[in-house]
Amino acid sequence: MKNIKTDFLIVGSGLYGCVIAERIATILKKKVIIIEKRNHIGGNCYSEIDKETGIEFHKYGTHIFHTSKKNVWNYLKKFTSLNNYKHQVLSNYKSKVYQMPINLETINKFFNQKLNPVKAELFLKKKTKKFIKKNPDNFEEKALMQIGKELYTAFIKGYTEKQWGKDPKKLPSSIFNRLPIRFNYNKTYFKNADVEGIPSNGYTEVFKKLTSNPLISIIYNKSFNLKQKYMVNKAIIYTGPLDKLLNYKFGQLEWRSVKFKKKVLNRRDYQGTSVMNFPEKKIKFTRIHEPRHLHTDRNYKDKTLIIKEFPELNSNEPYYPINDKKNRLIHSKYKNYLTKNYKNLITGGRLADYAYYDMDMTISAALKKFEFIKKKLK
Ligand code: UDP
Repeated sequence: MKNIKTDFLIVGSGLYGCVIAERIATILKKKVIIIEKRNHIGGNCYSEIDKETGIEFHKYGTHIFHTSKKNVWNYLKKFTSLNNYKHQVLSNYKSKVYQMPINLETINKFFNQKLNPVKAELFLKKKTKKFIKKNPDNFEEKALMQIGKELYTAFIKGYTEKQWGKDPKKLPSSIFNRLPIRFNYNKTYFKNADVEGIPSNGYTEVFKKLTSNPLISIIYNKSFNLKQKYMVNKAIIYTGPLDKLLNYKFGQLEWRSVKFKKKVLNRRDYQGTSVMNFPEKKIKFTRIHEPRHLHTDRNYKDKTLIIKEFPELNSNEPYYPINDKKNRLIHSKYKNYLTKNYKNLITGGRLADYAYYDMDMTISAALKKFEFIKKKLK
């Protein structure tokens, strides 16, 4: 580590770090060293090929790229094309399979009705009337006023309790806003998806391309520490959690984590879709991923891979920020302290910003931060 000498040092080889590295090397033509504590590139977007089945899977959970931000797609398409995968999620409640997010099909099947779009909306309005609030200030209030008690109890409450390990009344309503509610048969998962798909050659290939400039080098299996002396001419860009960086001096940020259990099955197709949700509390996992469905254009064998996802509390493997008031306050203390005391340190990305970013939001934030770097540090 003593020998690190560079223009920019980037800590973390996830999407945020690699996009900034690429921009700095390509546009500013400066030297970049990325240090990565894991033994691979790509952060939680990392994908690899399962040896037994040949199926490419996402080691840290299924990632679907989707965006409506033109500048993000104009940027990313220089490094990859997307396959024609369009995300659809199903929810297995009491062994019956429903469409998720909740749409006309879900409503009719669940309530055993034959409603058209107008009637379905009126039907649900009756169920939500008593929950309407001007400013719903938590997840549960927001959900009840949009879908009513029955749908909430079946599809949302148990899933959310498992996923977050918290009472939904203690979670921000913004999490529920991720899910659209539809009174038609549209079954695509995302609200904002003018462009959607999986990188044709997988995510890891995208990261290799992003960092292919000879000005960029990556050191794996290395943690970062503020006390260490680095010879950095311009700036350090840190993309990990801020509390860890400062030895938790203002307290620990809460993170929700997940664990995955993989299994190979001797059959072509297990569940007929890439992600099946299991909202019932008595089932310990939240979803089953079956990654063969992400690349339907590939010639996979007659074996399949399934991956069960189990939420857990583990701040050493941070996935989801618990973005409530208490945690936001702790985060702002770290942020202010770093801004004041470490002039050449820039922070950003899902972990450092403590933000529930989708991949396109991460790229967008990285491109913006690069513009700032360009102005300030060229
Ligand atoms: N959610 C739920 N039931 C579902 C799917 C989602 O209750 O079947 C809730 C849950 O609280 C989850 C949130 O909606 O954390 C956002 O879901 P999303 O699929 O966007 O989560 P991600 O894929 O980022 O884990």
